Amino acid sequence: MRDAIFAYEPYIRLGAFGGVFAVMAIWELLVPRRKQVLGRGRRWPNNLGVVVVDTLLVRLVFPTTAVGLALVAEAHGWGLFNTITVPIWIAVVSSVVVLDLAIYLQHVLFHAVPALWRLHRMHHADLEFDVTTGLRFHPIEILLSMVIKLTVVAALGVPVLAVLIFEVLLNATSMFNHSNVRIPLGLDNVLRWLVVTPDMHRVHHSILARETNSNFGFNLPWWDRLFGTYRAQPEAGHDAMTIGIEQFRDPRELGLDRMLLQPFRGDVGRYPLGRRQREQ
Ligand SMILES: [Zn+2]
Repeated sequence: MRDAIFAYEPYIRLGAFGGVFAVMAIWELLVPRRKQVLGRGRRWPNNLGVVVVDTLLVRLVFPTTAVGLALVAEAHGWGLFNTITVPIWIAVVSSVVVLDLAIYLQHVLFHAVPALWRLHRMHHADLEFDVTTGLRFHPIEILLSMVIKLTVVAALGVPVLAVLIFEVLLNATSMFNHSNVRIPLGLDNVLRWLVVTPDMHRVHHSILARETNSNFGFNLPWWDRLFGTYRAQPEAGHDAMTIGIEQFRDPRELGLDRMLLQPFRGDVGRYPLGRRQREQ
């Protein structure tokens, strides 16, 4: 089965990406949460363009995928789960949970360290919040995130199946929790105990620093509640809240070339976590 996962990984991931993207895009058209001011034609080609840049760069820079590294780690007996004997389902479930915690902590780190915030703020500079926002990450952030992911996979000896599940899940939930879909409030209240919902994550894309620095979770909503970074709703309400950050609000900033240069332009702003505390 390991070899099958390795051989079919690109197709499984591309298929899941295409399927979830199509479902969320249609759902947004049929039942939108917020009225969008900027049309899709202005943002989508650029947000999807950055996905192409990110994917090509990861392929060029890294000699292996995370699934490939999991196979190597298993062959050499690297990492916790390749040295102890536990039922496979325990290894898979706990690996997915630990990887999700690592992504949560990485996200907090990108909000805390000013130089890392410069990279991550490109994701936050989107002026609307929809399925393509969930794919819009600066290539250097993607490369750093890959280093962290590969480290966790090797150190923990994550089973190949768990790596594949996590990669597909992270991509799918990122598109889901950034989407502009309306979910009935009662259902959202139940759902957000199990998974990060769009209403929960939209708070994180508010222009207000205290709201931006909350709800860091991507898959599991528990980390925010556990570490005290949970914020239920935006103060201004979902319809009236302003999406984005204070910098880069000119719609020309939505172009791919400007997006790629944003980390190197302007000052760091007042969003990094340490700066926020000094000002309060
Ligand atoms: Zn963020």
